[in-house]
Amino acid sequence: MLVVMEAAARPEQIEAVVRHIEKLGFRAHPIPGAFRTAIGVTGTAGKADPQVLENFPGVKEIIPVSHAYKLVSREAKPDDSVINVSGVDVGGNGVIVIGGPCAVESLDQTRTIAERVKRAGGQLLRGGAYKPRTSPYSFQGLGEEALEILARVREEFDIPIITEAVDHESLQLVDQYADCIQIGARNMQNFSLLKSAGRARKPVLLKRGMSATLEELLLSAEYIMSEGNYNVMLCERGVRTFADHTRNTLDLSVVPAIKRISHLPILVDPSHGTGKRNKVLPMSRAAIAAGADGVLIEVHHKPEEALSDGPQALLPEMFEQVVREVDAIARVLGRALQPALAAS
Ligand code: PEP
Ligand code: MN
Repeated sequence: MLVVMEAAARPEQIEAVVRHIEKLGFRAHPIPGAFRTAIGVTGTAGKADPQVLENFPGVKEIIPVSHAYKLVSREAKPDDSVINVSGVDVGGNGVIVIGGPCAVESLDQTRTIAERVKRAGGQLLRGGAYKPRTSPYSFQGLGEEALEILARVREEFDIPIITEAVDHESLQLVDQYADCIQIGARNMQNFSLLKSAGRARKPVLLKRGMSATLEELLLSAEYIMSEGNYNVMLCERGVRTFADHTRNTLDLSVVPAIKRISHLPILVDPSHGTGKRNKVLPMSRAAIAAGADGVLIEVHHKPEEALSDGPQALLPEMFEQVVREVDAIARVLGRALQPALAAS
């Protein structure tokens, strides 16, 4: 259920509604929008009927929400959400390019790539510290040492960092070191991890599970938001199909489908979405043309020596071309690449 406040509702009127929702035993989620605030009402523990709120001062209407996801929906917030990741806006009119290695392998490797990502105009640096690998014998990531490397490189190049948390322990550390927490495809339905991410302080990038429907993705985002973390971004990274010319099938039609029903930003990862270096640029163009708020790209200066995902990593000069073309396509659509953070 949503309590929609009048555009002119005063903060104390919103506060009174929130207090009453909590008194009834529900959880209140005030969602300020460009035109009005809506208050999401969630929980099953409530004793009384929250319809009584209709008569509270400043309340415009009560909307029952029939689908399972509520806080992620455009009914809760008609305008696009813009998520601030340590000074970089994700969503809204700008588009972003995230670049970096699949995995942090050393300080030298991460510095070299970060320098090129920043110089090319990338807004955020990615790099896995904890790698969810299909084989237990593959490189699993450097763990906390990688987080320290990322934090050091962030200071040197003024570029916020995003890295994946794979369990509760790594989530605490990623929340502490990084600017944005990534929840990977394999953990999209790890509900207890999603709840922990919902209690974390940092924004969350939630990747679509490799066989997840749109509704399942939105419900996973709802898990995070229902715990009070409203800074959620979604990411399409390809799904499993019979096609074998690519690693996954990048489902770009999910971008306009999400835009229609959710206010959350949606990014596209053509690196895992194709698994092939030569397909990353064309699918980046297509992602922006389809309305994505940005792309997430794996970059390596020596892909043949990469400890994971070398075949899909772009060389730095190819990444520069992606940034240029993403900006050009965004401009055709009345959008533009976000400026990268100025060096401090
Ligand atoms: C990644 O981005 O490093 C990653 C492992 O992606 P996914 O969870 O989409 O497979
Ligand atoms: Mn990877």
